[in-house]
Amino acid sequence: MTGPADPIDAVCAAMRAESRVAVAIHESPDADAVGAAAGMLDLFARLGVEAALHVDPGVDVPYAAEFLPAGRVVVGPPPPGATLYALDCGSLDRLALTLGRRDGRVVDIDHHHDNTRFGDVTWVDGEASSTSEMVCRLSARLGLEVGPRAATALYAGISFDTGHFQHESTSAETFGWAARLVSLGAEPTRVYRLLYERRSLAGLRLWARAIEHTRPAGGGRALLAMLTAADFAAAGATDDDSEGIVDALRGVPGVEVAALARPREDGRVRVSLRSEGFDVSAVAGLKGGGGHRQAAGFTATGSVEEVIQWLSTVLDERLSTVSSS
Ligand code: AMP
Ligand code: MN
Ligand code: MN
Repeated sequence: MTGPADPIDAVCAAMRAESRVAVAIHESPDADAVGAAAGMLDLFARLGVEAALHVDPGVDVPYAAEFLPAGRVVVGPPPPGATLYALDCGSLDRLALTLGRRDGRVVDIDHHHDNTRFGDVTWVDGEASSTSEMVCRLSARLGLEVGPRAATALYAGISFDTGHFQHESTSAETFGWAARLVSLGAEPTRVYRLLYERRSLAGLRLWARAIEHTRPAGGGRALLAMLTAADFAAAGATDDDSEGIVDALRGVPGVEVAALARPREDGRVRVSLRSEGFDVSAVAGLKGGGGHRQAAGFTATGSVEEVIQWLSTVLDERLSTVSSS
């Protein structure tokens, strides 16, 4: 492909040339995916480009009412010929959108280091805290400023992926963008409440069950938790309530790897991995998943017990060959 050498400039050039586009994000979307989408929709509106977020039927888009412009979430395929802007998504098959025969180009904007670089234009920055932070850089490069609603969404995206400005991916630049977004109208208190203060009694009961069902692996350097469908039913909880459990386990002193396995609606098992130093995206990759070195995930077949057993064996092996950091 010919064009600007710097991928961010290639993305800017592509955006300026559009008349109608579709935005897509990863399955089980999180605040970074939705925040980045909100930012891109705002930028496209300012460029006079018609744009909407497209998802498959049944995809739950969190914070849509708070962050996304009304009427800009479309359940269904992109319009013919529209460029697809894929955000925060490591590979095409992880999109929350089934693509039939494609006639438009694809622009891939993401911060997963293991992104498969599937775009006609690809801008991947594995060091960026979040895709939302990358969208902030894009807005500056385009010479545009987002409105207060998109600013709040982008701030939420950065906050979510940095564990509220705590993970190592949080840089001076990250704080700089957060400050800039607040000056544009982002509401930090509202974001904190939305992302971190909502915890139901059902959710707390679910946490208790997960922690109860936690076992060590790798000589105590890993903690593996699991939740069964019966746990969700007994607690009256949903998958959203499991958010944060794996991070809490990672915080136990001496623990380098934490995992949480729980059932998905389709009968498969979803696993979240967190680490300190150790590359968990490589472990997720063994089962077709991926992510970041310190936060990754995969989906597997089998029961939660079987998946935990598999993980336990892999971590026993891998943690005995990696020296303690
Ligand atoms: P989660 O545990 O869902 O918070 O995911 C942690 C990180 O791993 C995120 O950056 C996800 O994008 C990534 N991830 C989770 N599940 C998968 C998967 N099945 N395939 C690729 N990446 C994943
Ligand atoms: Mn994400
Ligand atoms: Mn992200």
